[in-house]
Amino acid sequence: MSPLRNLEQWDEFVQQRYDPGKNTDEFRNYENAAPGIREFYRLNHLHQTRDFVLEKKRQFGPRNRMKMGIWEALEYLNTLVDDSDPDTDLSQIDHNLQAAQAIRRDGHPDWFQLVGLTHDLGKVLCLWGEPQWAVVGDTFPTGCAYSQKIVFSELFAGNPDAKNPEYQTPLGIYERNGGLDKVDMSWGHDEYFYQVAKDYLPDPALYMIRYHSFYAAHREGAYDYLMSDRDREMFGWVKAFNPYDLYSKSEERPSAGELRPYYQGLIDRYFPKQVAF
Ligand code: FE
Ligand code: FE
Repeated sequence: MSPLRNLEQWDEFVQQRYDPGKNTDEFRNYENAAPGIREFYRLNHLHQTRDFVLEKKRQFGPRNRMKMGIWEALEYLNTLVDDSDPDTDLSQIDHNLQAAQAIRRDGHPDWFQLVGLTHDLGKVLCLWGEPQWAVVGDTFPTGCAYSQKIVFSELFAGNPDAKNPEYQTPLGIYERNGGLDKVDMSWGHDEYFYQVAKDYLPDPALYMIRYHSFYAAHREGAYDYLMSDRDREMFGWVKAFNPYDLYSKSEERPSAGELRPYYQGLIDRYFPKQVAF
């Protein structure tokens, strides 16, 4: 049923796409993409309509599913195992800790380190039965024309919004440079965890969390006409975070037990003991 063998298969595809050692033109036709990847994007681009996004915001916005501490949420996310892929090398907690540790090694502020630790916590959506295409994948604005810079943009032809003329001008329902906060981005782990964290972290951290999968903007420069000056300034942080997300993976598994006291200290500085998910 699920086209990806696990959620990481999407992350790996993005890593390959932006591999600095690769000739991008040669890779840009995605002929090397596994059939599961294409099917995953077909479902994502087909079903992520503006109405779908608004419905998910209504459903998850109240955050009345669970109350848990941030570390507890990491452990809960770690219960996500893919039965189709028993020999996955790194767990969810490993990726989050590796990103946080790389940010810490580079001497970035505590809230930046916390972004590394928490940026993928929204993937708990999968534990509540949400399909892969509604949890991961490149995110994009709904309610306006699709940029050609979005990966597999030709697959938007099947999206019902593609037939709504109101949504098919560059600005669609939005105002020029009206700001991304007004834009309904496609739904997934980014927007969801932003909703969870929005009262607790400083703005640069929230931008990194909310837009880390918006590759069309932070890697390709698309949708500048939707951005405010504030967005442009804050996207400096989104860009700064991206290499830690893509390239901090290492074979060496971080010791969650040893690292917990340090990160629990950071968590307690910003988050309440119990956070509403
Ligand atoms: Fe992510
Ligand atoms: Fe990530």
